[in-house]
Amino acid sequence: MTPILGCIADDFTGATDLANTLVRGGLRTVQLLGVPNPNSPIPDVDAVVVALKSRTIPATDAVAQSTATLDWLRMTGARQFFFKYCSTFDSTDEGNIGPVISSLMDTLETDFTIACPAFPETGRTIFKGHLFIGDQLLSNTHMADHPLTPMTDSNLVGVLQRQTSRRVGLVQHSQIEQGADRIREAFRTLKAEGKSIAITDAVTDDQLHLIGPVLDDLALVTGGSGIAIGLPANYRRAGLISETLGSDYVPSVAGPSLVLSGSCSAATREQVARFEKSWPSHRLDPLTLAANDDAVCRAVEWARSKVSDGPAMIYASAPPEDVKRTQDALGRAEAGALVENAMALIARALIGHGVRRLVVAGGETSGAVVNALGIKGLRIGAQIDPGVPGTMTIGTPELALTLKSGNFGTPDFFEKALRAMP
Ligand code: ADP
Repeated sequence: MTPILGCIADDFTGATDLANTLVRGGLRTVQLLGVPNPNSPIPDVDAVVVALKSRTIPATDAVAQSTATLDWLRMTGARQFFFKYCSTFDSTDEGNIGPVISSLMDTLETDFTIACPAFPETGRTIFKGHLFIGDQLLSNTHMADHPLTPMTDSNLVGVLQRQTSRRVGLVQHSQIEQGADRIREAFRTLKAEGKSIAITDAVTDDQLHLIGPVLDDLALVTGGSGIAIGLPANYRRAGLISETLGSDYVPSVAGPSLVLSGSCSAATREQVARFEKSWPSHRLDPLTLAANDDAVCRAVEWARSKVSDGPAMIYASAPPEDVKRTQDALGRAEAGALVENAMALIARALIGHGVRRLVVAGGETSGAVVNALGIKGLRIGAQIDPGVPGTMTIGTPELALTLKSGNFGTPDFFEKALRAMP
């Protein structure tokens, strides 16, 4: 069986978010990490999501990686393609959303697609082309001050138009509300005006479902994970997926359990505090790491002595005042790299000592751990909390793995994940 849908995501946790949506819609899904090697085996699933790290690299590199990935996805036999970016449309006037969409359209020789980052479940809605986060226009939120992709304009038609020579139009929510035929008519009108990318309004999941059937006409769909909720129904209607297969089934992995937390986000700190009350926990202090060569070894030895009796946690998570003190002493990037590197070494050593069930908190921290373990792909299992599925690695090391970005998850997330993951 060949995949039906081939996806390119511009970052790691965004890829997992999309994969989670597809699995919930009934598609058996794997996530691969990095541009696939031309000889990479084709997974026997309904959807493949390739996670790149292309959001903030130079646009020419993002285009090269995305088109190389598309070439491989086409080779798998996939019939439709998806470019996933952030629901806050993280980009600059140089790109990378516009240049990547344009080059994917060139490769697929398609003359029309949509750009719909709406994700109403998390408060990202598009109304008259303007992106809102909760009740605020995008440009009135913290995204205006983002260090890499400051979003100071909420009008997505304007934002995307500055990134591409293709002409960008708008399909308004009043048209969406009238259903598939009206949306198709709006697409035809835009094409007749010489426009080839449509920002598509969506304020509710119902509106995303109204757009769903129309996506069947497009070789390429682009947006956040929200717009993907309409795709599985199309494939089901076409008889391409089975109703009976458990799309979220992944085999279980037995063995000692470990939590690694390098996230300092508020939700994670609450989760760390909660877990620490019940299970052995070891704090990694970046200043000690910087001063002391054997701090990593001591953490590894500590965990080895605990994990045979039950789960244990190693964490660097700290409140903002501690993080600031550390950054003042070591430098912001240096402190981050020091902790990420330590977490990566600890993960590798403890997997070597038999740990098989691993929860990692923090987007960058997850990236560092996955790279250090040489993990090439993940089978996506059932959702643990919104945006966070349980997964199992493809190939070696064989692990049950949960990767959680900072602000996701309920306060009892770590225990819940260890219970729920395969
Ligand atoms: P999140 O998903 O919450 O943003 P990340 O892992 O992406 O988490 O980012 C957290 C960053 O903070 C990482 O680079 C990590 O190494 C760093 N870090 C973790 N603990 C500390 C600390 N105590 N002081 C300074 N930096 C830290």
